[in-house]
Amino acid sequence: MLRIPDKGKAKDQVLAELAAFGTKDLDTKGGGTWAYVYDHGLADVDEVGKQAYMMYLSQNGLDPTVYPSLLRLETELASMAASHLGGDEHVVGNFTSGGTESLILAVKTARDWARAKKPHIKKPEMILPTTAHAAFHKAGKYLGVEIVLVPVDPQTFKADIAATEAAITENTILLVGSAVSYAHGVTDPIAELGQLALKNNILLHVDGCIGGFMLPYYKQLGVEITPFDFSVPGVTSMSMDWHKYAYCPKGASVVLYKNKDLRRYQIFACANWTGYTIINNAIQSSKSGGPMAAAWAVLNHIGQEGYLEITRRTLEATQKIITGVEAIDGLEVMGKPELCLVAFSSDTINVFEVIDEMKLRGWYVQPQLRYPGSKENIHLTVTGVSLERCEAMLADLAQCVEVARPKGCPNWDELGAGFADFDPAKIEPDDIMALMAGAGVDPANLPERMAEINGLLNAMNPALREVVLTGFLNDMFGPVA
Ligand SMILES: *Cc1c(COP(=O)(O)O)cnc(C)c1O
Repeated sequence: MLRIPDKGKAKDQVLAELAAFGTKDLDTKGGGTWAYVYDHGLADVDEVGKQAYMMYLSQNGLDPTVYPSLLRLETELASMAASHLGGDEHVVGNFTSGGTESLILAVKTARDWARAKKPHIKKPEMILPTTAHAAFHKAGKYLGVEIVLVPVDPQTFKADIAATEAAITENTILLVGSAVSYAHGVTDPIAELGQLALKNNILLHVDGCIGGFMLPYYKQLGVEITPFDFSVPGVTSMSMDWHKYAYCPKGASVVLYKNKDLRRYQIFACANWTGYTIINNAIQSSKSGGPMAAAWAVLNHIGQEGYLEITRRTLEATQKIITGVEAIDGLEVMGKPELCLVAFSSDTINVFEVIDEMKLRGWYVQPQLRYPGSKENIHLTVTGVSLERCEAMLADLAQCVEVARPKGCPNWDELGAGFADFDPAKIEPDDIMALMAGAGVDPANLPERMAEINGLLNAMNPALREVVLTGFLNDMFGPVA
């Protein structure tokens, strides 16, 4: 097992070792990576974020009474978020470490609101369109809120209002809509969801983690957008990630509530131990002031005009990509993307082969597995630098499709039938590793080509996938020799 070195190493040596670890990482700059990272393409922005981050690195957000700077940063960020999202002077919110934390808090707030206002509910439920982000599932599982999944419209990939209404029971506490959904980049019919929430006296969270920041700029550019923010009656909370399309360093999101009466259910206080009294807005307790300072600095540095300009380029790139993808024989854009997230699928080509071919040419594009109502597909996160690279990317995509075409597309249902004997509840870790080894996968040494393993996962049903991936991750993070 690895031990902390007895003698400390010199500064230069430590930093050089650290830098060397990153050689196999995906590029975070330059427009070759179409997922995970958000590149604005502007000079200075990263430097502003880094310097601000370092300036507040050591301040501790544990206690807002001892760092007035952090209190100010957090309230200013929440206020800017509220005005950005159509909020009035009653809207309040808090800074969080990311979309997941924002969503867990929104679900916790709804659960505790219901405990106070609807004490007859013993088994609270939230209704999720199948397109709602996985973080809601995490929240439900962590917090004991049952998840009721409703299918979305198979053409538009938007929440189905009739199905949602039919799923409401007296245990329902929360409805969820996305603006936009990650997978297909479309906004759910928030106004209709709001009417359902009002009619049934339940809460409605709009997940604007990825779309909330940019949609207002799309509107300014004359694009017709589905109303989604606090101006829509019935919306009670929203989330928006600074570390996505606001181009702030990672660890930055915000969760907002219609008013303080609702937000109070988010706050955690504990005086029931022998130590210092705890009052926390969010999940983390001790935390660096860095992410908050960096977010504040980047927003103030880019400004509305800067963001509008980035959005203009992103919109243009997205339009070129949609046209370009549809021009490639065998590829089809899924739904009608309303922002800059584009998913495309194929009936005739194995998209996982295309992804591997793209990687050989220096492009990282993200696989999304099939799910009832949504075919396996390739997902592109378009950003501020994509405009400069989208023609080159499309040219390579067309080539990669031609390489993959002769191999055809597997019959996923038939392959899936091969897993019929695996009961996710009974499968043992050894079975999982044997399965993986059969596909040439070693958790300690991932292969360059992922088509095999992506195909295997794609053929499995979601419950089996979850068990297999859990075993896989558990193995991946073992002790280091
Ligand atoms: C990214 C995302 C999240 C989760 O955010 P993290 O910052 O990755 O925790 C939630 N909802 C949507 C729509 C997202 O795109």
